[in-house]
Amino acid sequence: MSWFVTHLECVHCGRRYDPAPDRYVCTECGIKGILDVKYDYEALTGRLTREWFRQSPDRSQWRYFDLLPLARRETIQDLQVGWTPLYLAGRLGEHLGFPNLYIKDDGRNPTGSFKDRASAVGVARALEIGARVVACASTGNAASSLAGFSAAAGLTSYIFVPATAPEAKVTQLLVYGANVLLVDGTYDEAYYLCNAACERWGWYNRNCAINPYLMEGKKTAGWEIAEQFGWDPPDWVVMAVGDGCSLAGVWKGFAEAKLLGLIDRTPRMAGVQAEGARPLVDAFERGSVAPVRPQTLADSIAVGEPRNAAKVLRAVRDSQGTMITVSDDDILAAIHELARFTGVFAEPAGAAAYAGFKKLLHAGVIGREERVVVVVTGNGLKDIKSARAAVQGGRTLRPDLAELAKILEAAR
Ligand SMILES: *Cc1c(COP(=O)(O)O)cnc(C)c1O
Ligand SMILES: [Zn+2]
Repeated sequence: MSWFVTHLECVHCGRRYDPAPDRYVCTECGIKGILDVKYDYEALTGRLTREWFRQSPDRSQWRYFDLLPLARRETIQDLQVGWTPLYLAGRLGEHLGFPNLYIKDDGRNPTGSFKDRASAVGVARALEIGARVVACASTGNAASSLAGFSAAAGLTSYIFVPATAPEAKVTQLLVYGANVLLVDGTYDEAYYLCNAACERWGWYNRNCAINPYLMEGKKTAGWEIAEQFGWDPPDWVVMAVGDGCSLAGVWKGFAEAKLLGLIDRTPRMAGVQAEGARPLVDAFERGSVAPVRPQTLADSIAVGEPRNAAKVLRAVRDSQGTMITVSDDDILAAIHELARFTGVFAEPAGAAAYAGFKKLLHAGVIGREERVVVVVTGNGLKDIKSARAAVQGGRTLRPDLAELAKILEAAR
């Protein structure tokens, strides 16, 4: 039995709880009291050494199994999740005059986004406790991801998404056989409806902000980056932020790697939001979170009431990082630039991270000599409508060589 979890701890008041399966939030603090999973790091220190990792043949996020809140490997699905590629973006770096830019392509996960890391753990956990029905509310990716892993595991899933979610994401849900509920409202409204439904019908709740186990899957990306850099981590990690669980999760991975003595310093975390959905940037600058009505084409980060504010703000501050906004135009330009110079096609939220990096570079917050990882959290094929708005071209012609010659001539 590989279970190093000691307890759950409220991020708000510090109260401790047993890791009971139905324990979601702090009894005292309610929804504000998100719980953090704590492990027996002393026992893990002697076990998880650099040598141990060097010998591990596992090329997935399950190489960090001992750091996950799962008792048995039997409930893990075969879908390949995590250990996504880290690329040195050479041509893009040259274009920018910035030699050490790296892209972590999490669009390569089974359903095309970073969310698979969390869903993989969530579904394994649901199976462990004997749940048959799982549910989540999502801007799109958490949904497709839960639907995909539920399909692999044979669980029934109920998925709440805003009716405006991009077509590719809704299509994914349907092909995976989920029960799809298109909520005529915002993501935030879908979220509340889903939580109420979970309570009423006893479904397993995959919502990251409320289910403490899911962020544990996300932290594996931090571990991977540390390890892929040969335990000499980069200076910055830049990520898009919606609810905040993803960035907070990655930060937890780095913090743990440092705690276990595998790295001796941690990167600074930069969180990027869209101008039309920037409650966490405001909170970072002014101290308190005020809900907004989100307006951005980057649907994955169109979150007006972030549910992991405490965790993400603490992560950014503890890492001596920063937060920044980018406009929708910046995001569209970033999709094209990133793809054109690296071959990595990002959905708008993924490209937002790159747009944020550029802004921080031009503002002098990130230095020219520093090493930076931009995490591409979602695949560009998930939202081709936005991508199509970012590019022009394509010539129609008859299947005729002479006509082609004329076109090529004119283009010279
Ligand atoms: C969910 C998501 C994010 C943001 O993650 P949060 O945990 O909501 O902050 C960023 N990019 C993509 C592609 C996502 O799906
Ligand atoms: Zn509490």
